[in-house]
Amino acid sequence: MSFSLGVKENCKPAKKINLMGMPVEKVENFFAELGEKRFRATQILQWIHQKGILDIESMTNFSKPLRRKLISMAEVRPPDIVNCEESTDGTRKWLIQLNGGSCVEAVFIPERSRGTLCVSSQIGCALDCSFCATGKQGFNRDLSASEIIGQVWLACKSLGKFDQNAPQGITNVVMMGMGEPLMNFDNVVDALNIMLDDHGYGLSKRRVTLSTAGVIPAIDKLGDVSDVSLAISLHAPNDELRNELVPINRKYPLGGLVSSAKKYLNKMPDNRRKITIEYTLIDNINDRGHHAHELADLLKELPCKINLIPFNPFYGTQYKRVTNCAMYRFRDILQQHGYTVTIRTTRGDDIAAACGQLAGQVNDKTRRQERYKQKFSDEQPVRMML
Ligand code: SAH
Repeated sequence: MSFSLGVKENCKPAKKINLMGMPVEKVENFFAELGEKRFRATQILQWIHQKGILDIESMTNFSKPLRRKLISMAEVRPPDIVNCEESTDGTRKWLIQLNGGSCVEAVFIPERSRGTLCVSSQIGCALDCSFCATGKQGFNRDLSASEIIGQVWLACKSLGKFDQNAPQGITNVVMMGMGEPLMNFDNVVDALNIMLDDHGYGLSKRRVTLSTAGVIPAIDKLGDVSDVSLAISLHAPNDELRNELVPINRKYPLGGLVSSAKKYLNKMPDNRRKITIEYTLIDNINDRGHHAHELADLLKELPCKINLIPFNPFYGTQYKRVTNCAMYRFRDILQQHGYTVTIRTTRGDDIAAACGQLAGQVNDKTRRQERYKQKFSDEQPVRMML
């Protein structure tokens, strides 16, 4: 990798390199190009991700000339927090502004024994799953690695984790915010590496989860470079229904997806790992008893646990939340088939921080947002007549 450190003829000075999103190997290469020792890389990571320091001048174990050299060509810049909301249940949601004016959201969910941060990977999402609010916002662009890990940095800062003696805030990270992480592969992998690095956030690979709607080639590639926990957003037990709910299924149907998930586990050195299957239960769409039996059959060869998510409604959606009765029946059937099943408790819904409610502010390049609003306003009189 080359960093082009100089100033080209007749050009503006080269844009400063943002060290925030660089995993250790990339910082090592950067220092090697400067003729500096590679071990400086771990020091930089510690300053940024463990001590929360952004100001290169304050990195006192670097000599003054080195600091000056670094300041002339590099910076450490997280995105900006423009709003923070706290739910009655302690869930916090940050609205984070990025270059170009769009915003994404990150959510912190505190529980008794852990604190989970839900991180976004794209501005909007191109996949347009029919039950997801993010999809309705359309798509703008991928987040850079700095913008992804910057959400973790901002959350740590805001929770006081960088202060001495502060209690450990974030124990788990889930890539379940806005966007499809596997459609932004390289930047997401860089950010994951910083989360896992002992000189970064030092999180355990079991406590970092990437959730995907099922981009099969990217799952296969991920297994070659990472061993984070994998969650698959399944939501339907057959292709016909899944094509409707998760349109990327038309390209990557269920049979191949389940095999790819199995292959991912086979690449892990530890054979006790399991895939998490996410299944959003929508009233009268995918919550019937026969769906549960079909799901049990589909997954019988895959070491997995199943996480049921009651559908969270959002403005304009035609879907309704599953009834409690249907949800418990669905869970019981899966348990009778021998699966470990959890029901995801809805957190932070009073601040629209629950699954699928994250919408940020997307300067939509796809015009999907406009079409969706139009469709909703066209349908409105009909609804009112019913
Ligand atoms: N694109 C990735 C990650 C983002 S979504 C993925 O599809 O996995 C995180 C989880 O919330 C996914 O399982 C998603 O399907 C689910 N979800 C989306 N919209 C939802 C809604 N309205 N109610 C409940 N869960 C939803």
